[in-house]
Amino acid sequence: MKEYLLIDGEWCEAGSSKRIEVRCPSDGKPFASLAAGEAGDIDRAVAAARRAFESSPWSSMTALERGRLLHRLSGMVAAREDDIAAIESRDTGKPLRQGRADAVALARYFEFYGSAAEMVRGTTLPFLDGHTAMTLREPHGVVGIIIPWNYPIQILGRTLGAAIAAGNTVVIKPAEDACLSILAVARCLDEAGFPPGVVNIVTGYGETAGAALAGHGGIDFVTFTGSPPVGVSVQQAAARNHIGCTLELGGKSPQIVFDDADLEAALPVLTNAIIQNAGQTCSAGSRLLLQKSIMDRLLPSLARRFRSLRAGPHDRDLDCGPLVSSAQRDIVQAHIDRALADGIPLIAQGEVVSDAPDGGYYCPPMLFGPVPEDHPIAREEIFGPVLSMIPFDDEADALRIANATDYGLVAGIWTSDGARQMRLARRIRAGQVFINAYGAGGGVELPFGGCGKSGHGREKGFDGLLEFTRIKTIVTRHG
Ligand code: NAD
Repeated sequence: MKEYLLIDGEWCEAGSSKRIEVRCPSDGKPFASLAAGEAGDIDRAVAAARRAFESSPWSSMTALERGRLLHRLSGMVAAREDDIAAIESRDTGKPLRQGRADAVALARYFEFYGSAAEMVRGTTLPFLDGHTAMTLREPHGVVGIIIPWNYPIQILGRTLGAAIAAGNTVVIKPAEDACLSILAVARCLDEAGFPPGVVNIVTGYGETAGAALAGHGGIDFVTFTGSPPVGVSVQQAAARNHIGCTLELGGKSPQIVFDDADLEAALPVLTNAIIQNAGQTCSAGSRLLLQKSIMDRLLPSLARRFRSLRAGPHDRDLDCGPLVSSAQRDIVQAHIDRALADGIPLIAQGEVVSDAPDGGYYCPPMLFGPVPEDHPIAREEIFGPVLSMIPFDDEADALRIANATDYGLVAGIWTSDGARQMRLARRIRAGQVFINAYGAGGGVELPFGGCGKSGHGREKGFDGLLEFTRIKTIVTRHG
């Protein structure tokens, strides 16, 4: 399978004609190739997006019409759900049912933002006598979208859907490790009625195509999801061009379990929050904060659950698939080796099925604990199926530990004490807090994002759409 760039409505080869080999994480074998776009391709894509933004039909299209485009795209994604799910699963290694959940979420994002397009509005403002003052919400213009490999289509849905609903045109740089699903969805754009140049896609490496997009003088806004160091360089590039950016950079999210929690309800959720997508999830619940008084009650059943977990090829649809690449497996393995070398107890681990192909990038789910609060596996994002259990004494202790990371993305609180639920929810440093739940329902409608090393700005929900707009104030003096 040979893939191409999408620029100005045409599928084309990269200027350099260079290619990137795509390997299936389940067996490590190549099965496709991407065009390796570089700075010159980004130039062409940004120019196409600019032309599309400034000319008809896009410049005169109403919010209603843009919403209808997204609804049509949503319907086409839903009709191709099985194909898109299979592509996503093979390309990322995630189990097929997760690929399907992501395809369903993608259709839902386009549906949500298709409906939200008409809801974008300004205000009138009390002002001087004889004047009328109002605000308009306008699109930024050309938006750069840089997408990672862990949830290609979900992140496509929340960025592209919102950017288009707001009236922007876009240049997308998907991840070199996994982006075939994005290209499959892009093949629907023409039939859905998107004018050429409104959506451009340049595949390629981060240091070349990604950096060229983030630093391009022709874009008006950039949104990035990925690692904190690259987030810093994207923000620096945006600053040099005096444009805004949103950054979604991951987390080390706590799941806090008190002794009055419904443990039976909590157990499967606690586990799923770390094994979903083999832990390669920015909002993974990777720190389990457990009240000391219930360690004896919860740990045996949690350990049993971990021992029952199985990792294997994506199409076996087990608890975990492989990690996305050998590089990612090496990063995760280095964290595990360090924890073992430092004598952190491994409470339990799952298994990699014995017939998993040799060349696949597998890592069994692992539960470590007690983990000292200052150990790297208690503080750093591992991005693998590794859960660090940290004991705490009381509410104050739990809050202190929960906030003791540089990240601040998501938190889960498990307690039946209503006052404590709200006290903690308000004091925890995180963009989303779940009470007796975690990551409930995918959250297309729920604003999502973090603080500190997790980044800034919000995606998802209506607030995510507003990030792709800017306010213009108009004042008229009429006497
Ligand atoms: P990354 O940040 O390098 O890549 C993310 C995206 O940015 C990709 O499209 C990549 O091509 C692009 N990119 C890379 N360098 C760039 C640059 N200089 N300028 C512009 N764009 C650039 O992430 P990674 O190397 O694929 O993964 C490394 C770590 O990042 C993981 O172990 C994980 O901790 C974290 N990560 C987080 C998320 C998240 O959802 N927050 C997603 C993926 C990875």
